[in-house]
Amino acid sequence: MNDHAIRRIVIVGGGTAGWMAAVAFSRRLAVAGREITLVESDEIGTVGVGEATIPHLAAFNDMAGINEDEFLAACQGTFKLGIEFVDWGETGERYFHPFGPHGHDLRGVHFHQLYLTEAQRRPLPDIREWSMSAVAASLDRFARPPPDARLPLSQLAYAFHFDASLYARFLRGRAEAQGVSRMEGKIVDVQVDDVSCYVTSVTLADGRSIEGELFIDCSGFRGLLIEEKMGTGYEDWSRWLPCDRAVAVPTSLARPPEPYVRCTARSAGWQWRIPLQHRMGNGLVYSSAHLGREKAEEELLSNLESDPKAPPRHLSFTAGRRKLAWNANVVSLGLASGFIEPLESTSIHLIQMGITKLLALFPDKRFSHVERDEYNRQVQDLTEDIRDFIILHYKATRRSDSEFWNYCRTMDVPDSLASKLELWRTKGRVFREGRELFATPSWVAVLLGQGIVPEEQEPTAEAIDPALISDALEKMRLSYRHMAEHMPTHADFIKQACAAPADAVP
Ligand SMILES: Cc1cc2nc3c(=O)[nH]c(=O)nc-3n(C[C@H](O)[C@H](O)[C@H](O)COP(=O)(O)OP(=O)(O)OC[C@H]3O[C@@H](n4cnc5c(N)ncnc54)[C@H](O)[C@@H]3O)c2cc1C
Repeated sequence: MNDHAIRRIVIVGGGTAGWMAAVAFSRRLAVAGREITLVESDEIGTVGVGEATIPHLAAFNDMAGINEDEFLAACQGTFKLGIEFVDWGETGERYFHPFGPHGHDLRGVHFHQLYLTEAQRRPLPDIREWSMSAVAASLDRFARPPPDARLPLSQLAYAFHFDASLYARFLRGRAEAQGVSRMEGKIVDVQVDDVSCYVTSVTLADGRSIEGELFIDCSGFRGLLIEEKMGTGYEDWSRWLPCDRAVAVPTSLARPPEPYVRCTARSAGWQWRIPLQHRMGNGLVYSSAHLGREKAEEELLSNLESDPKAPPRHLSFTAGRRKLAWNANVVSLGLASGFIEPLESTSIHLIQMGITKLLALFPDKRFSHVERDEYNRQVQDLTEDIRDFIILHYKATRRSDSEFWNYCRTMDVPDSLASKLELWRTKGRVFREGRELFATPSWVAVLLGQGIVPEEQEPTAEAIDPALISDALEKMRLSYRHMAEHMPTHADFIKQACAAPADAVP
C-alpha cells in the first residue's frame, strides 16, 4: 500500500447493508495492513425486513464467492420469478411482472410491438404467456436456466426471497472469516476534524473509540453519520410516493412456497406476501395521511392466509434519497442513503450497486472530488430511474374507490416519467436509457398489466407479414408452456437443491 492508501475502514451498522459491505470489502480490498471494523448495536437492532430481491443479487454472490444453494439453505431462501400484482389497475384485475424477457424480437422489432399488433387482429392471451419466468410461476415450477441460449428455459430469470435476519447472520460469518472485526456497542458520539470536516472516529457508550479514514454509514433510516452528524440533507419524494408506514407480520405457510411475491393493492397502499421455506412474510405498506395505525393493522390481519407467528411490527419511513450518498469521507449505504419503498424489492439492489460503484471508484486518503462526484451522480441517476418505475405503479391506476387512489391517479409525476408515459401511450414505445435498472419488458408488464394500451401500432411491426407474426407467437407460447410443464415444482427443487437443515433456527 502506498502512503495515501486507506488503511482503516469503519462500517457503522450491522444490518443487510453493513454486512454486505463487510463481505465485499474484505474480499476485494484485503491487503496486509488494512483493517475493516464493523460496529453494531444489539440494543438498537436492525430493521429486520427486506426479504425479496431482484436477479442482480447473483452477481453479488459471484463477487463475494457465495454458493447459491448454501446461502439459500442458511437463510430459509426460496426462488423468485417475479411479482404478481393484484387489484392495481382496477379491483379484480391481476398481472405478473416477470424477470427476464417476453418472447423474442422478430426482424429487429420488439416482441411487445409484435404482440400489440397481433392483438389488434385477434384476441390474445395475457402477455405473461410469453414469459418463461411467468409461465413457470403460474404453475409453481422452477429450474435453473441452462447456458444454451436456444432453449426457452434460458430465458428464465430468477432472484431470491430470504429471511433478512438470517441473511445478516450468514454474511457476518463470512465477513468475520475474511478478517472483519466486529464491535458491539452503541455509538454515542462522532468526532469530526475541525479543518477538513472529515469524520475521524466514533465513540461507543462504554468509552471505546474507533478511528478510521473511510466511514461507511449503514446505520439505517437515521443516517447517524451522513445526516445526524453531517447534515447532508434528504430529498423527499413523498408527493409521488405517499406511502410512509409499514406493518409486518410473519405467518405459517398454508401450502408449499410459491416462486413469486404477491403485492395486493389495498385501500391506502398495498400488502406484500413473500413465501420462505419456514414461513410467509406479510406486510402492509400504507400512507399515514389516508389510514391510521390501528386500521392498518386491522386491514393486514384480516387479509392473512394463516395465523400470525409473532406480533405485528410497525415501521415509519419517508420515500426519498440522501442529497449526497457520499459526503466528505462518509459513504452511506442502505437505508442511511435513502429508501424508495419496497414495491419492486430494489433496496438490497441499491446496497449492492453502492458497494460495486464504491469499489470501482475507491478513494485514497486524498479523497478526490472527481471520484466522489461521479459516485454521487451515478447513485442519483440509478435511484431516480427506479423511483420513476415505482411511481408508475401508483399513477397508472384506474381505481377511484378511495381517497388514496384518487390522489395517486391524479397526481403530477416527474417529467422524466411523464414523457415515458406519453411515448408509450402513442405507439407503445419504451426506451431504456443509460444504466436504467428496469428494462423494456418490466415497463411493458406494468403498463399493459395496469390497462394502459397504446393508441396506435408501431409501423415497423405492421410492415411484417401477419402470418409470420401469428405463427412465431404461437410457437413461442407453446414452447414456454411445454418447458414449464416439464420443470420440477418449486418445492421439489428446493428440497433437492437447497433445503434448510431440519434443525435450522426459525
Ligand atoms: C417495510 C419494508 C420492507 C422492505 N422490503 C424489502 C424487500 O423486500 N427487498 C429489499 O431489497 N429491501 C426491502 N426493504 C429495505 C431493506 O430492509 C433494507 O434495505 C435493508 O434491510 C438494509 O437495511 P440497513 O442495513 O440499511 O439498516 P438496518 O437494518 O436498520 O441496520 C442498521 C444498523 O445500524 C446499527 N446502528 C444504528 N444506530 C447505531 C448506533 N448509534 N450505534 C451502533 N449501531 C447503530 C443498528 O444496530 C443496525 O445494525 C424493506 C424495508 C422496509 C422498511
